[in-house]
Amino acid sequence: MRRAGAAGEPVPAEVAAAWAKVFMEQLYGMQKPVRYECRRRGSNDPWEEAEPGDVTHPRRRGLVIRALYLHPPVAKQQHRWPPGSNGQGHCLDCDEAQWLAAPECRPHAPIRDHRSAMPFRITWVIEPLEKLHYLAKHLNPFDRDKWRKEATYLIDRIRDHEKGSQP
Ligand SMILES: [Zn+2]
Repeated sequence: MRRAGAAGEPVPAEVAAAWAKVFMEQLYGMQKPVRYECRRRGSNDPWEEAEPGDVTHPRRRGLVIRALYLHPPVAKQQHRWPPGSNGQGHCLDCDEAQWLAAPECRPHAPIRDHRSAMPFRITWVIEPLEKLHYLAKHLNPFDRDKWRKEATYLIDRIRDHEKGSQP
């Protein structure tokens, strides 16, 4: 193959097919499938684990068989340390501290709040305020009164405001 590539000549289809066959045999030929799955011929049912009899007599049983192999593990992502951190820094991707970081870097996907795509609505504040009103029971009597009054006042103002701004 290297010689053909270096010469820059086109390769006949049967030669390419032979190469592909060798590749596939080297990649998969030596491996045993980790699992066989089957489903009715011509159906779109979900695949189910096949019994040994299904694998040896798929035609008689009207089944389609597929073999599953283990796939090579996905390459591990390396941490990226800030330049000159000397073991004291935090990874630029996952924010783990260098001295206790796991070997693999797994950045957290940022959690997106669907509200950030919408124009702000003052009524979103009502629920946290109601929660504040509820949680105020854990405070001392003085603070409990203060924050319950505050929350009630703001919730009422927001409701009034919403009523006033309805078309
Ligand atoms: Zn990392």
